Amino acid sequence: MEQPTPPQAPVSPLDALRRICFLLERGRESSYRIDAFRKTIEAITLISDDELRERVEAGTLKQIKGIGDSSAAIIGQAVRGVLPAYLVSAEEKHGEPLTTDGAELYAALRGDLHAHSNWSDGGSPIEEMVLAAVQLGQEWMALTDHSPRLTVANGLSRERLADQLERVDAINASLGEAFTLLKGIEVDIHLDGTLDQDDDMLDQLDVVTASIHSKLRQPSFEMTPRMVAAVRNPRTNVLAHCTGQLVTGGRGKRPPSAFDAEKVFRACLENDVAVEINSRPERCDPPDELIELARDLGCLFTIDSDAHAPGQLDMKSLGCERAERLGIPAERIVTTWPVDDVRAWAKG
Ligand SMILES: [Zn+2]
Ligand SMILES: [Zn+2]
Repeated sequence: MEQPTPPQAPVSPLDALRRICFLLERGRESSYRIDAFRKTIEAITLISDDELRERVEAGTLKQIKGIGDSSAAIIGQAVRGVLPAYLVSAEEKHGEPLTTDGAELYAALRGDLHAHSNWSDGGSPIEEMVLAAVQLGQEWMALTDHSPRLTVANGLSRERLADQLERVDAINASLGEAFTLLKGIEVDIHLDGTLDQDDDMLDQLDVVTASIHSKLRQPSFEMTPRMVAAVRNPRTNVLAHCTGQLVTGGRGKRPPSAFDAEKVFRACLENDVAVEINSRPERCDPPDELIELARDLGCLFTIDSDAHAPGQLDMKSLGCERAERLGIPAERIVTTWPVDDVRAWAKG
């Protein structure tokens, strides 16, 4: 991965808005303003710069649904060849990388096994997620929207997942060789350790990322077999945010779930399941001592963003910082592998 270069004037309205959103999302700004800009992006994606310029001159820009005062100012400055003031101030505030520690690992990262679109609880269309991943120099990304039982996150039924897989095929066809969007899922682990999607649907996917979102306070004697059963499922490839802890942020704090980590990670090792290092700052999951345990047992890892917006894809730099500090070798991190190796591993 690499840091995208900030745009210089002249910049197209779309590029300016996308860069602003990227910076605000990566900087964890409130979603209200970002949502407004993302709506503008959707609104103008199919409108030519010439038409936007004409509308700026005629004063009819805000007749387009999804363009408010701030967006109109950005578009107006961009079509006049000026670097929009909003972009300049966003660069000043959020232009620096989140961290430069772990830079070597960050440069070695090629992909991501955990990212969401607006098909479930993400904020952006799949295409915008892909575009941001490409700009970050990623070679591949798994689209892992939620599974049916997570209704609060608009989890995908088997019918909606089938529709999504067609969309992924279409996107890949338009991308050529340069980037691969893998078919994936963040599948919920039921109380009995089974997975929340039909086997025949899971079989159509490139990768299966499994995680727990319910009954996080189960006693260890229930949580451990639940997790081990999910890891032993031959369709599972990644065990995501395994403790469920929340360490900071708007959703409050939550202690890690209680389970026998050695048993769970041994099962990961035996079943070729990767332990996710979830890069989201509020999750920071698993905690250091569990990463060290998995490291010493010889487990595979992933460094994932769990991005719900394009700019959050760059949070993987925070996961890299932790992995490098904890001495995880790059070759044991699946997200540094070429996409063909990832596919072969996941189906192996
Ligand atoms: Zn999750
Ligand atoms: Zn997720």
